[in-house]
Amino acid sequence: MTEQPHCEADRSVSRSILVVGGGIAGISAALEAAEAGYEAIIVEKEAYLGGRVAQLHKYFPKLCPPYCGLEINFQRLRKNPLIRSYTLAEIEHIDGQPGRFDVTIKLHPRYVNDRCTACNECVAVCPVDRPNAFNFGMDQTKAIYLPHALAYPMKYAIDGSVCETTACARCVEVCRYGAIDLVATAQTFKLRVGAIIVATGWRPYDATQIDNLGFGRYADVITNVMMERLAASTGPTRGRIVRLSDGRPVDRVAFVQCAGQRDGNHLGYCSGICCLGSLKQATYVRERNPNSKAFVFYIDLRTPGTYEFFAKRVQSDPNVTVIKGKVARIVEDGATRDLVVEAEQILSAEKIRVPVDLVVLATGMAASLDGDRAGLSGGWDEDRFLVPDALAPGILVAGCARGPVDVATAVQDATAAAAKALGVIHQAAHGSVA
Ligand SMILES: Cc1cc2nc3c(=O)[nH]c(=O)nc-3n(C[C@H](O)[C@H](O)[C@H](O)COP(=O)(O)OP(=O)(O)OC[C@H]3O[C@@H](n4cnc5c(N)ncnc54)[C@H](O)[C@@H]3O)c2cc1C
Ligand code: SF4
Ligand code: SF4
Repeated sequence: MTEQPHCEADRSVSRSILVVGGGIAGISAALEAAEAGYEAIIVEKEAYLGGRVAQLHKYFPKLCPPYCGLEINFQRLRKNPLIRSYTLAEIEHIDGQPGRFDVTIKLHPRYVNDRCTACNECVAVCPVDRPNAFNFGMDQTKAIYLPHALAYPMKYAIDGSVCETTACARCVEVCRYGAIDLVATAQTFKLRVGAIIVATGWRPYDATQIDNLGFGRYADVITNVMMERLAASTGPTRGRIVRLSDGRPVDRVAFVQCAGQRDGNHLGYCSGICCLGSLKQATYVRERNPNSKAFVFYIDLRTPGTYEFFAKRVQSDPNVTVIKGKVARIVEDGATRDLVVEAEQILSAEKIRVPVDLVVLATGMAASLDGDRAGLSGGWDEDRFLVPDALAPGILVAGCARGPVDVATAVQDATAAAAKALGVIHQAAHGSVA
């Protein structure tokens, strides 16, 4: 981007770009901006960067591990002095206009500082267990924990809601690096930035809201995001795909598409990702156990564009069966804990009952936006996805904050948002777009 000749820049305009959300979209936007010479500040509410992609076992369509791409991005972040990132952080307030936004950021205490070497000594002495949110509660961590095995930053954190703090302090005693401060408190600080990119992504729809599919009632009915963690070598079972009820390896797995999606009582829209997600997860099942069978119950199998080739490839496995049928309900045999999927086959109008060991619900991608915590007062639709044209000038949106998309689209979107942010700053400084 070249500066306009004979045009004096307004020096009160900030060349910094605030990125709210440190998932793949936020990281990509920050990298694009910084590599074009602009300062980028990432504000992430979790204790680590990477967002939902960090929880995936593999990426469709290539079936490669998402962590390769994430790690390359983390290296670019580490090397670029124009990028700063804050974890356990949220936006309290945004004021101002394009070129001159004043933003108040709240940093929640991590209780562990940069001296942490991730030696893990503290975990052995901590007496408090808590559900591991990264693994959707399928295992536990101690109150002091590493957010996940490949976390960036590779630094422990303490869950202040369960820690016994100074009444315990066992972790402080064993930490040889003086990395723990149990009396740390939240801090706020202000920043001036020229443009803002909101990349707050998505969250899994709450499957307990779907009565007929048994989630929360039967231990072996899980969701698609849980399946990603179950299959991951860094997950709760170290990658063994087993029944949560009794730890038995699974032979027969059903995937239920549109679980709460395209349904006015839950999510009215199609997330556009979940059919591909389930076909991908059918390959996880098949590769772990050569005797296994996967059954995908769908209403419409949506595999747009060239993803069709991926879908065809998965379906060429004779042990992956796709059934056009709406699942009416899932029942459990009380004695064996085996599950039966009851569905109506749409083409034959026949009622079928398919016994399986594990059911995976393809729940949808809901907006994660909590408007207040992102400093916004509006600009979203009825599903809380952000509408670019409804946001205040100078505030842009990228990735799933705008609606459910795959990673490739989220990254393209982030690049476009970064380019627009540069344009916002240029226009504020020079009165014209470069
Ligand atoms: C089961 C399943 C499997 C999938 N598999 C694939 C696949 O194989 N290939 C593929 O291309 N896509 C896949 N996807 C889609 C993929 O997960 C998304 O495309 C991707 O996560 C989009 O990234 P994002 O950065 O927009 O959002 P996110 O990954 O959700 O990141 C958003 C970030 O913003 C943070 N945040 C949220 N609110 C705030 C706030 N108020 N303040 C600060 N930070 C905040 C979040 O903590 C998070 O870190 C899958 C989706 C599902 C449901
Ligand atoms: S907090 Fe201390 S003891 Fe715990 S992992 Fe970090 S350096 Fe090790
Ligand atoms: S002070 Fe908190 S984190 Fe440290 S050992 Fe005790 S309970 Fe665990």
